[in-house]
Amino acid sequence: MRMSKNGMVTKIHTRIRTEPFTANYELVGRELGRGKFAVVKKCIEKATGKEHAAKFLRKRRKGEDCRMDIINEIAVLESAKANPYVVALHEVYETSSEIILVLECAAGGEIFNQCVADNDEAFTEKDVIRLARQILTGVSCLHRNNVVHLDLKPQNILLTSAKPLGDIRIVDFGLSRRMDKVTEVREIVGTPDYVAPEILNYEPLSTATDMWSIGVLTYVMLTGESPFLGDDKQETFLNISQVNVDYSQDVFEGVSSLAVDFIKSLLLKNPRKRATAEECLKHPWLNSLPHPHSHPHPHLHTRPASSLDEPETSQSESEPES
Ligand code: ADP
Ligand code: MG
Repeated sequence: MRMSKNGMVTKIHTRIRTEPFTANYELVGRELGRGKFAVVKKCIEKATGKEHAAKFLRKRRKGEDCRMDIINEIAVLESAKANPYVVALHEVYETSSEIILVLECAAGGEIFNQCVADNDEAFTEKDVIRLARQILTGVSCLHRNNVVHLDLKPQNILLTSAKPLGDIRIVDFGLSRRMDKVTEVREIVGTPDYVAPEILNYEPLSTATDMWSIGVLTYVMLTGESPFLGDDKQETFLNISQVNVDYSQDVFEGVSSLAVDFIKSLLLKNPRKRATAEECLKHPWLNSLPHPHSHPHPHLHTRPASSLDEPETSQSESEPES
């Protein structure tokens, strides 16, 4: 990957196709989602019959040419090809006004839906532990490759299936940057509720900026509440810069104290004090359930010391299993 001084990557390997997208794909069903500048629609590849998600990105936004931003997004997806928790990029098409990314379809939709759902539809703590492990595994792999996502939020974490609850796929690398060399990224602002204090203070961004967002994400997945959300942007930003977080029993009813401890290791104002993705994966909270790979039938393994029904049981002294 080649990068410019603001961390954007300008060189890609994927062939940009100029034949009409509709020559090779048929659009089906309603749109899968949309963001600020993109619409995502389900499509079927005619040659294979396989389902994909087509992300239509406008090249001109607010009168500005944003082609390089899209090239950066493609380059980051290319560099994360071996990352099992990053959505796979299949093909790229370009028209006079748009670039179309043909992506692996994450049919379960945004984790956002379960975050705001009622009790019976909402995630259990066990679900959140499994999903958080996957998010952290994906993000630690990105960070090892010096990529920061910078827009981690429940709308950008998708599921391969919703029922039964599948695996996560990280999407939307529109704000992502390379962090190696002397690159200092200061200019980007993500979504208000999820941005770290250093973004608001115009300080250098780093992999720790993503870790803040993972703290917010985990809080929302467990409680259904956005920790910093105020009545307006101003209040939200004030809450963030003061790290004004409610950890009361009220909000965390039925959630283990290990989970709260985990979130507290991330929602720290000083980026250098925040846990890294690698450190998070070793946190006792994420190791309080048997790993799915080491125990194919988790319910057959009763380990009272790691039961979530006993949040008082301290595991901080025991070594996490690997
Ligand atoms: P934006 O950069 O505009 O936010 P995203 O890449 O986040 O665009 O896509 C917008 C929405 O479209 C997502 O929040 C999600 O709901 C849906 N979406 C994106 N990619 C996929 C995919 N691969 N499979 C299924 N749905 C997707
Ligand atoms: Mg998005």
